[in-house]
Amino acid sequence: MKKGLLVILSGPSGVGKGTVRNQIMKAGRVDLVYSISMTTREIREKETNGVEYYFVTPEEFQRNIDNDNFLEWADFVGHRYGTPKDKVEELRNQGKNVLLEIEINGANQVFSKVNDDRVISFFLMPPNFKALEDRIRKRKSESEEVIQARLEKGRKEMNMTENYDYIIKNDKVERAAREIEDLIKRKLKGKI
Ligand code: 5GP
Repeated sequence: MKKGLLVILSGPSGVGKGTVRNQIMKAGRVDLVYSISMTTREIREKETNGVEYYFVTPEEFQRNIDNDNFLEWADFVGHRYGTPKDKVEELRNQGKNVLLEIEINGANQVFSKVNDDRVISFFLMPPNFKALEDRIRKRKSESEEVIQARLEKGRKEMNMTENYDYIIKNDKVERAAREIEDLIKRKLKGKI
């Protein structure tokens, strides 16, 4: 059986990776399994443990680092986020295509660790910095300090595009999702 494709969706904080990811999963035009990450950040009102993330304590996260359980992990504005390694491998070995939606440091770790050719990566780009700021500010769940930290990070990250196969402009969620879906389909057909 052919190994499943590893799809990496990354980009600066606040660009709308989660929204584009949800659109792709909801539309169901490509067969993808979303890899649920582990995080130490607090759960938000609309979130469910085991759906958006596995929410764990810093101690549990550290245990997973010590046991080499992560394909990648990163510190992001005071919290840790990581991709469980075995789960991704297991799914790919079953021929399933796995989608990772991760920030930029984590994506760089994946690029240096995974060296098969069944990988496709996307850098989601905001149309401009103002759009990024607006999105980050709309999340009312966070303090001004956290918002500032995310903005600062997003600004720095906007030009860290060099390792990616494709740069996708997030001007409209449906359009960006469609562009990504089409590229995944072409990759699956061996056309790119
Ligand atoms: P949020 O707190 O807004 O859910 O996520 C913060 C950032 O962490 C987002 O950019 C998101 O894409 C990223 N992220 C989510 N899961 C992972 C992961 O497993 N690894 C890494 N490196 N980043 C992640």
